[in-house]
Amino acid sequence: MLEIDGAKGEGGGQVLRTALSLSMVTGTPFRISNIRVNRENPGMMAQHLTAVKAAKAVSNAKVEGMREGSTELTFEPGVIGNGRYFYSVGTAGSTSLVLQTILPALMLAPGPSEITLEGGTHNPFAPPYDFLALTYLPALARMGPVVQATLERHGFYPAGGGRMKVDVQPVEELQGFELLERGDHVRTRARALVSNLSMTFAIRELDIIAQKLGLGAGDIHPESITGNDSAGNVVCIEVEHEQITEVFTAFGRRGITPEEFAEEALTESREYLASTAPVGRYLCDQLMLPLALAGGGRFRTVKPTRHAVTNAEVIRMFLPVDIQIAKLDDGSFEVAIGPQSS
Ligand code: AMP
Repeated sequence: MLEIDGAKGEGGGQVLRTALSLSMVTGTPFRISNIRVNRENPGMMAQHLTAVKAAKAVSNAKVEGMREGSTELTFEPGVIGNGRYFYSVGTAGSTSLVLQTILPALMLAPGPSEITLEGGTHNPFAPPYDFLALTYLPALARMGPVVQATLERHGFYPAGGGRMKVDVQPVEELQGFELLERGDHVRTRARALVSNLSMTFAIRELDIIAQKLGLGAGDIHPESITGNDSAGNVVCIEVEHEQITEVFTAFGRRGITPEEFAEEALTESREYLASTAPVGRYLCDQLMLPLALAGGGRFRTVKPTRHAVTNAEVIRMFLPVDIQIAKLDDGSFEVAIGPQSS
């Protein structure tokens, strides 16, 4: 049984989720302590708990410590199953993070799956649906499996209430890949979503972004979201190149003006726009796990975050892979994943 200190490195929910994903696929049981102990609200929250429940069901696991607030968990996976799964986080906790936990196992399962998840689809500190659909899933598609997501209802923080459906066609083995260049720029567009708020917010936000990024009228899209009772405001800047689309998001909240909010979205995109690397800061930490499962791959990225460095450490505990992170002359970084040298 692997012993994992959940306070390791970045010390967030990702340590737990990565351990769950890799335990399911490798069949390695683990015990984790100190789950999110240094966070304001330590232990497992609704999103983490839902991820554990989903991982338990998909891998027929034996689990101890599965309750909200728990800082310890023991997980002993069994055989991976495929089929229909439904989980509701119950809060605005991120559905994308629950999905990312079980996706590696379902991409390698004996047959197709259909997953329905309810909760947050656009919440801070997690991949928003748009990033999932435009950035993360297309990167996985390079590895063979066909994963198709449909957003059925938006779920904004703090109310949640969103729903996504995901179909997974698995493969026997994941194929690694190299992603070193972006290719030519195709277009940059900005979208502002408002739910139960005036469209003038969206228009003011997009005006500033268009001005700062030099976007034309055809590249800005204010959208009014219906079908959700709660208020929400999200801005996404989508930067599309031939090889990759990256999405940078800011999440509106009470007390900030549309102008300040637009500035937050621009700040999110700045590092990527100043670099020539294809992989942005969030995709960097999220790509390591599937590439390690594929046995190897290489990509060029902006400066790896603490999330990325911590994730690499957890991955090395489960898989015999080497993960090298090297700074290149132009200031970007190369992440190279390959079999461990003996
Ligand atoms: P944790 O903080 O440990 O729960 O991990 C959060 C995860 O969400 C990491 O994999 C981040 O890369 C990802 N993430 C956070 N914010 C964003 C964002 N704006 N876009 C895409 N992914 C994000």
